[in-house]
Amino acid sequence: MITLGLQEKNTLLAEVNKRSGANVLECYQCGKCVSTCPVSQYMDFPPREIMQLIKLGQKETVYMANSTWFCLTCSACSGRCPRQIEIPAVMEAIRHIAIEENYVNNTKKVKSIRKFHNIFLDMIKLYGRSYELRLMAEHNIRTRDLFKDMNLAPVALLKGKIPLLVKPVKSIKAIRRMFKLADKLEKKHQ
Ligand code: SF4
Ligand code: SF4
Repeated sequence: MITLGLQEKNTLLAEVNKRSGANVLECYQCGKCVSTCPVSQYMDFPPREIMQLIKLGQKETVYMANSTWFCLTCSACSGRCPRQIEIPAVMEAIRHIAIEENYVNNTKKVKSIRKFHNIFLDMIKLYGRSYELRLMAEHNIRTRDLFKDMNLAPVALLKGKIPLLVKPVKSIKAIRRMFKLADKLEKKHQ
């Protein structure tokens, strides 16, 4: 009953819980997620603080934080969370709502991550897999940092770590159908 009451008043909490399938109210601030997270030191607010900000209904702070963009969805945090909160799902839900509601964090690093994110999804749509060489080239062009990591490409190619060319995977049609379906569902949800 208490959970329902809080969710009715706190639209941020209600929306994040609904989208992620998690119950952020369960967080008792132990901080295990922070000590496990490999990127928490780069975040404006590490996962424990994000949970608290959601409980407090601090919409703008949560949506504008770089935390959700730095999250690698590695699940190290949720694996150690004593309340079994699906923290990566919470981070993803925030990222989606922030995009839909036009909260844009325009810091250089977040902009670069957003571009990487979009290019990566384009690769999956095109090939059904990552195409590292193209991903790197496109990211360098879109971030206007043409020579970033260029010294790594020849070594990686020579060692066979990344392929020069890739073909779409066999199930590419099914993957594209999945993207179309996701687009439809997203539009329906808006
Ligand atoms: S590990 Fe779980 S309960 Fe502990 S602070 Fe993080 S989210 Fe909250
Ligand atoms: S899923 Fe995200 S928040 Fe959790 S440990 Fe990995 S990077 Fe950190």
